[in-house]
Amino acid sequence: METKKENIVKIDLSDIESVADAIRDGITTVELLAEYLDADIVNDCLVLQGSPIFACDEGGESMEFSGETTPGDAAQEYVDDGDWVEDTQTRYFRVSTWRQGVSASGEIRDVNRRQNDILLEAQPPTSDECGDDHKWVAHYDIVGGIRDNPGVWYNGGGLTMTEVCTGCGMGRHIDTWADDGYGGYYTHEEYILDEFQDAIQDKDEDEHEDETEDEAA
Ligand SMILES: [Zn+2]
Repeated sequence: METKKENIVKIDLSDIESVADAIRDGITTVELLAEYLDADIVNDCLVLQGSPIFACDEGGESMEFSGETTPGDAAQEYVDDGDWVEDTQTRYFRVSTWRQGVSASGEIRDVNRRQNDILLEAQPPTSDECGDDHKWVAHYDIVGGIRDNPGVWYNGGGLTMTEVCTGCGMGRHIDTWADDGYGGYYTHEEYILDEFQDAIQDKDEDEHEDETEDEAA
């Protein structure tokens, strides 16, 4: 079987399956095609120009993105386009990205595989009292801790911080040393609706009583 350049024009070069078939059938080789197309050889495989990037998180379904994008952008898009439930806490994703190439034996293989760490930021839920305009404070009486720095604790390599919204009693928890499950750490944020509602009401009543006492005196 000839492997001359003339044979290359007979191959549908936009289709990786056709390219793989041609290489498997000995019509051409990875090296010849790479030279002819000025294409890259990655992990001993021919990667066609403009070939798509695939992205997938653990247990998810893979999605295909334009070859014009970067692996990092494809991973970000994969997370942004996801149909996630209300994000009241930071979500950590480890997204794999890869391209496909054709090996010397005409096999289609995953190449350029890498891991991309993507964080989906938490959003405080709206409340009847505040809408989206919460007022975050760390009242010692409510969140505890030490008087000079209420609501703050050391946590291994970082800090955890608890705050409360004085408008609706929502809790905000920040952990600057959250375990990502892969040996790394990230900043985790979580909002809990009505968490301190009773404490806020008690505090309002106490303050009101103080005022009444002041007036009486
Ligand atoms: Zn609020």
